[in-house]
Amino acid sequence: MFSIDTHYINGRQVAASGKEWLTLDDPATGQPTTRLRLGTGDELNQAVAAAKAVLPMARYSQLEERATWLERLAAAVDRHLEEMIDVTVAEYGGPITGVRQRIGYASAAIRSNIDTLRRFAFTERRGQAEVQYLGLGVAGLITPWNSSIGFICSKLATALAAGCPVVVKPSELSARQNQLIAQVIDEAQLPAGLFNMVQGTGETVGKALVAHPDIAKISFTGSTGTGRYIQREGAATLKRVTLELGGKSPNILLPDADFEAALPLALAIAFNNSGQACLAGTRLLVPRERLAEAEHGLVKALAQYPVGNPSDPAVYIGPMVSAVQYRRVQGYIARGIDSGARLVAGGLGNPEGLEAGYFVRPTIFSNVSNDMVIARDEIFGPVLSVLPYDSVEEAVAIANDTDYGLHAYVSGGEPQAREVANRLLAGRVCINGLSHEPQAPFGGFGQSGIGREFGVEGLRAYMEPRVLL
Ligand code: NAD
Repeated sequence: MFSIDTHYINGRQVAASGKEWLTLDDPATGQPTTRLRLGTGDELNQAVAAAKAVLPMARYSQLEERATWLERLAAAVDRHLEEMIDVTVAEYGGPITGVRQRIGYASAAIRSNIDTLRRFAFTERRGQAEVQYLGLGVAGLITPWNSSIGFICSKLATALAAGCPVVVKPSELSARQNQLIAQVIDEAQLPAGLFNMVQGTGETVGKALVAHPDIAKISFTGSTGTGRYIQREGAATLKRVTLELGGKSPNILLPDADFEAALPLALAIAFNNSGQACLAGTRLLVPRERLAEAEHGLVKALAQYPVGNPSDPAVYIGPMVSAVQYRRVQGYIARGIDSGARLVAGGLGNPEGLEAGYFVRPTIFSNVSNDMVIARDEIFGPVLSVLPYDSVEEAVAIANDTDYGLHAYVSGGEPQAREVANRLLAGRVCINGLSHEPQAPFGGFGQSGIGREFGVEGLRAYMEPRVLL
């Protein structure tokens, strides 16, 4: 059993003093593997005080100094890639091939912040005025479990580029990944106090961070419900917030789409990270006259996305992160069956031979209508809804009829694919593929969030303009 009982405060690991422990299971077996000593409000206060003490130094640091911090950080991350991949796969059951890619994004995100930092006009003239951009203060970073190391690295890099010290409250479900990344960051030898991390629950440490008067901004990635809480409670101290929340992303297959390529891609997009991805394309919109063809092609393509042991490089779908998440996904599959949608693959229970852990059968519902709960709620598991449409006009209307607006996908010939993409209300629209660009802003329309991360928009979200006249 792994025991995690330190926090990272003021440049070193400190012994945790909390009385409560949380036990985490190996999602692939359901057996307990890790104990986390939960952080307290006092520990959070110590971390905020350490960050506050170095705020003037960080805020007025030279740009080259910040670039050096980020370069050391990226180098330390690169040195530990394999170890981080192993711990991530073991802890939350993310399939290794996808985890490798996502951890690769972590150092790409740090380096992309170095580029942005060097290109950003921290001082500019506007008529009579000199406009200066200053780090807005101590930032609280709250991250989820589905790519803990990646989120911590990318948020930290942007905060440091802006001159903001941070206090991180990572997910309590990622205890080992969090401890490892804290050790890696320690190797980067940042000035003490710039990076602090307290491990604990949202209920205790997360809420204390959101309420803390010395925290100027919260950058949050997680569920829409928690995002609402942060905006509401953060208002008491007028916190700046960046919220990266959930999604229910549409994937439109246009009438001329090449199904040979588009259907396997649709499964890759829907079942990415075992379906535990905010950008999963979980509503597949198909021309009604090609619905039977799509169902047939999807079932056939499922064989390319095997479910199984997450450390097997051939596996695409691993277990759900926890028993709670497993039960939640099963609940949605049951509701899909009850709603009258046509079950074309998967269903309730575990896949054969994988009864021990939190594995879910990759599930496809067809003939789904957009008002069914499986088409509206973010399920966060390998469950795809196929919705028929009668005209491209209607496909666009269905795609945009959602509370969310994080991602969207279109497959089909040009110029129609781009014309349709131009009408989709989402922060990012991928045409004929799934790709990522760390220089481009990332974030959502509607209830997928507030603000943007990455690129110039991400950097500016950690700064306040000061005007000299
Ligand atoms: P979550 O909201 O349950 O938890 C996220 C973090 O918030 C955790 O660290 C948790 O401890 C903390 N937290 C919980 N309640 C809190 C409170 N009241 N105050 C302060 N902190 C609190 O989300 P999750 O289950 O860890 O992650 C899954 C969700 O994250 C999904 O909805 C997914 O779509 C979303 N997500 C979004 C993006 C994006 O970039 N838009 C990326 C990944 C995940």
